[in-house]
Amino acid sequence: MPDIGEHRLILIGPQGSGKGTQGELLQVYLQIPTISTGQLCRAEIEKGTDIGKSIEGFVHDGALVPDAIVIALLKERIREYDAQEGFIIDGFPRTVEQARDAEGWLHPTKVIVIEISKKLAIDRMSARRACSQCRYKTTASNVGLHGSQCPRCPGKLIQRDDDRPEAIQKRLDMYSAVTEPVVEYYKQTGLAERFNGSLSIPLVFMEIAHVL
Ligand SMILES: [Zn+2]
Repeated sequence: MPDIGEHRLILIGPQGSGKGTQGELLQVYLQIPTISTGQLCRAEIEKGTDIGKSIEGFVHDGALVPDAIVIALLKERIREYDAQEGFIIDGFPRTVEQARDAEGWLHPTKVIVIEISKKLAIDRMSARRACSQCRYKTTASNVGLHGSQCPRCPGKLIQRDDDRPEAIQKRLDMYSAVTEPVVEYYKQTGLAERFNGSLSIPLVFMEIAHVL
């Protein structure tokens, strides 16, 4: 077992970088929860709270959920019992203002930045295939020549519009525009630890574990 101590980690990385998987591995390794601001917002909507209803409105209008709401939800979440030994935050901060604000209450100990070239991210994501009818997911290399039939239902395995290279490129461009200043901020404060996301999942994980 690692010496757990107080790990208040922030996880940053684009789609295709393996960030989600590393978050899951770290959660098990350190025995601390991964807290995703996206999930916090979705949970609030599901519970039908007043905050949930206002979040739903912003999402419906295609607007970002305001800082004040995201920060209030996060502050409440990190006060919960399971987060007292530490936590891994995914999806926050999205802006330098949020990062500055978080200095006062999140007190991050390390910011884990997983980097990957746009080309590799696009290659990885555009290889995704999904069933047109159920939730089954796989990759193009598993589909093979005659494999467009879903193994779980009568549906067909297709490439979702979201996984087409142009759509991915757009999301990655947005991601760099928003996130690069945040990464730059954490480089300056000395909290950023950068990792090469083009390596295999176990290798990236070993390197992260090494700096903790
Ligand atoms: Zn299916």
